[in-house]
Amino acid sequence: MMAISDHVNIDQFMAGLRRRNPGETEFHQAVYEVASNVFDFISNKEIYHEMQILRRIAEPDRIVTFRVCWQDDQGNIRVNRGYRVQNSNAIGPYKGGLRFDSSVNQSILKFLAFEQTFKNSLTGLPLGGGKGGSDFNPKGKSDNEIMRFCQSFMTELFRHIGDDIDVPAGDIGVGAREIGYLFGQYKRLTNRFSGVLTGKGLEFGGSPIRKEATGYGVVYMMEDMLSRRADHIEGKTCLVSGSGNVATYTAEKVTDLGGIVVTMSDSSGFVYDKDGIDAEKLEFIIDLKVNRRGRISEYAEEYGVPFYAGERPWRVPGELVFPSATQNELNPADADILISNGCIAVAEGANMPVEQKGVEKFVAAGILFAPSKAANAGGVAISGLEMSQNSIRRTWDVNEVHQSLREIMHNIHEQCVEYGAQADSDHIDYVKGANIAGFIKVANAMIAYGAV
Ligand code: GLU
Repeated sequence: MMAISDHVNIDQFMAGLRRRNPGETEFHQAVYEVASNVFDFISNKEIYHEMQILRRIAEPDRIVTFRVCWQDDQGNIRVNRGYRVQNSNAIGPYKGGLRFDSSVNQSILKFLAFEQTFKNSLTGLPLGGGKGGSDFNPKGKSDNEIMRFCQSFMTELFRHIGDDIDVPAGDIGVGAREIGYLFGQYKRLTNRFSGVLTGKGLEFGGSPIRKEATGYGVVYMMEDMLSRRADHIEGKTCLVSGSGNVATYTAEKVTDLGGIVVTMSDSSGFVYDKDGIDAEKLEFIIDLKVNRRGRISEYAEEYGVPFYAGERPWRVPGELVFPSATQNELNPADADILISNGCIAVAEGANMPVEQKGVEKFVAAGILFAPSKAANAGGVAISGLEMSQNSIRRTWDVNEVHQSLREIMHNIHEQCVEYGAQADSDHIDYVKGANIAGFIKVANAMIAYGAV
């Protein structure tokens, strides 16, 4: 047996990972973030080395890629690439969203599936980690084109998923409309009405609060971090990026709790409303984005506030920051500006929106920093509860599900506190806490299974 001193160090581990996964920079970034904490934690725990746990989690169980052929409204034949990355089913069926966006590639989906494995573990529910999607760009497509694309996508995906195998859901570009089309095609192909997808409509097996869960959960995480310091959201100026599902329900909950949301954005730029994007203005954004599929600049026209084309909101002064658009949307220079402008806490609503060096800056400056795998786990947690409801063929009351969400988020916060506590200060390293707490459960299950 190898002596502890003979183990590879993190640099050697990362060099091997880069060699085996050339050019997959997002995947390297996600693995490095976890490995940098886990290597420390396992330094004196021989069994995790012996069983090669991290090496195995960073190698997906399988990746399926397939051609998705569909016809646009003009009758042209179009071809996209579909994927499902099944990262780990150590603690439950593969679980994670589908992303439809032109930026989608294998690196991005491997990073998301890897992150999802730890996030799902943190929820305390029996959920493995997976992710999928396509480089299909839904922007500007008609409902009929979206339907034909979803049907074609599911015509291949259906053979790889199942309620006890792999349960996809939404992510960027995949919302209620797409889940409806995907579920309809799954049902038609298999003749089974099962909980094979989450985020379904309430009429066909969806869960109360699923739509709101990610955003609400992010705010609950922020609330718990602040309350540990005897502070609160009320009266604080908040910066939110994005205007999709996560961003809108983050803004709604912040406003409910007395915070003032002054920014929201989309890929074309951001709006700055210093009076606050209140509940009524948020209704406008939801209608704009969900029903009319318009641009955020229309908000600026409607309410006479500035719109900054091509920019992100990070130079606006704000105390609480909620990056909720997409990965790597906040770089180290943005972090410097936010810190000097008085930011006290960041909770990641999107998956890995802050670049690694930006995270290091926030942590070094003593800013409360909740990484996405902890902060945005509320969405997949309610997906887990949607699966439970489907299995027992019942729908729980909205208050019951909401209460569960609050408890799950609190529990995630406590796990971060337990594993992220610093020996020499009262400061919690939530990044380290989330990585280690998420790792342990998956790792221990893998040890129980032996070398498989
Ligand atoms: N896409 C979401 C996430 O990143 C939700 C996944 C799910 O509900 O399965 O966690």
